[in-house]
Amino acid sequence: DSIVRLQQVTKVYANGSRALENVNLQVRRGDFLFVTGPSGSGKSTLLKLLYGAERPTQGQVQVHDTNLSDLRGDRLSMLRRRIGVVFQDYKLIPRRTVAENVAFVLQAQGYARREIQRRLLPTLKMVGLHDKAERFPDELSGGEQQRVSIARAIVSTPPILLADEPTGNLDADNSWQVIKILKKLNAVGITVIITTHDDRLVRMSNHPVVQLCNGRLFHVN
Ligand code: ADP
Ligand code: ADP
Repeated sequence: DSIVRLQQVTKVYANGSRALENVNLQVRRGDFLFVTGPSGSGKSTLLKLLYGAERPTQGQVQVHDTNLSDLRGDRLSMLRRRIGVVFQDYKLIPRRTVAENVAFVLQAQGYARREIQRRLLPTLKMVGLHDKAERFPDELSGGEQQRVSIARAIVSTPPILLADEPTGNLDADNSWQVIKILKKLNAVGITVIITTHDDRLVRMSNHPVVQLCNGRLFHVN
């Protein structure tokens, strides 16, 4: 019962950069998977293919039993709503509060005001930020900002959460906090795929690992 499946996926960018070479991967519903590998090995590209920001040059990318190559426009947007994404650099809107940053996703998806209010507080509690709802991003630490971005990614309750180097700008303590939140989300059923080049984090976590090396994928355990 795979929620994500890549079959013989190769990605070559327009400039000739070969980012992925014949990658095969299956992720089952409810899995927590680490994707490791050095900078430039293809980790971001792998996630971009999964949320439809890039298309494979060859091969098939399936998410939620849908072949992403077949999707365009609205149907691609609908699928993306069922995928939460977290980035290394948080990508928060500077002039909006924590609550507004999180609510914005739901507003954009047409949720009713009451439903937005119903979801906001539990989501901020989940990431430990219910007392910071009215702060602005620049009033928060990096770790807190990353937790806002996690709240934003999960407030629409997507079945899949993709995190691209979410701890890349954080110290060890904050990194571990982020991992703990992702574990908690996984425990309530969300499939988590996280990229990192931090081997310590991976070793401490006791989850399956795949490694990318020059665009080739290896199963580590
Ligand atoms: P990682 O996330 O592991 O650092 P990336 O997936 O970002 O790796 O990059 C893999 C390879 O593809 C690198 O050689 C990188 O320079 C190249 N690459 C990534 N994005 C682009 C792009 N938009 N255009 C051209 N080359 C790219
Ligand atoms: P990250 O390493 O945080 O995943 P990116 O995926 O944006 O960041 O970039 C990874 C690598 O891909 C970098 O080496 C970057 O220079 C290269 N890259 C990203 N976008 C492009 C692009 N449009 N053209 C060429 N190289 C790119």
